[in-house]
Amino acid sequence: MKNRTLLFCLCISLFACQNDTKENSTILDTKIKEEPTEPGATEIWEPKPPIVSVGITTKIPSDAIVLFDGSDFDEWTSTADSTAVNWILNTDKSMTVKDKVGDIQTKRNFGDVQLHLEWRSSKEIRANGQNRSNSGVFLQNRYEVQILDNNNNDTYVNGQVGSVYKQAIPLAKASSETGSWNSYDIIYHAPKFNSEEKIAESATITVMHNGVLIQDHVTIKGTTEFIGWPKNSAHGKAPIKLQDHGDNSGVSYRNIWVREL
Ligand code: MG
Repeated sequence: MKNRTLLFCLCISLFACQNDTKENSTILDTKIKEEPTEPGATEIWEPKPPIVSVGITTKIPSDAIVLFDGSDFDEWTSTADSTAVNWILNTDKSMTVKDKVGDIQTKRNFGDVQLHLEWRSSKEIRANGQNRSNSGVFLQNRYEVQILDNNNNDTYVNGQVGSVYKQAIPLAKASSETGSWNSYDIIYHAPKFNSEEKIAESATITVMHNGVLIQDHVTIKGTTEFIGWPKNSAHGKAPIKLQDHGDNSGVSYRNIWVREL
């Protein structure tokens, strides 16, 4: 009897809730259809967006997950075998790729994100083309935004700094001087897959390089392959990965944070 009463109450609540929603949408629809005669008719007051403050010195949003602040590698793991990260932790709150140690990735998995990171190429010029300070940030472990010292260093443009590797040529090259810090601010929306594990909606990406728009809501066609066309296998949330290109890149990173969207 108690259960039946509970069920009855639940049904009434759901009905009331649905009615509320319907009524609200009807009001909104009416507002859209009829030409408003007063300013209040087109004002929406609820729900209010969450309040996010930004650190005065850190510039980090209050709802961000700090992935690296120079203290440790606690948020990271080795991609190859999930062991502790063996890259170089520097005294200036940065880290440097340790050559041939392998990629590192976040312990957490992510879907849609706003990602901020800063990177610096090696001051010493050690090689040319794709072998000069090559690294990269991979969204969901699959989709690479290229990091490269392209200053006076030509390469194929769909593989240059700021490219979605082998897919999207950046709109501009906004690199700092060789050996100086760069920032990437990335807005990424993950792909969606249908029940048959086929791609239903492609991933999209927007990238600012040192504050300059270089990828403008670009559609990611699939994995960013070194050889071959992009591939699309169904996946869920996945780590953010940083690349060890394996050629003594000397690339450093600092100040990495992410907001889940
Ligand atoms: Mg790379």
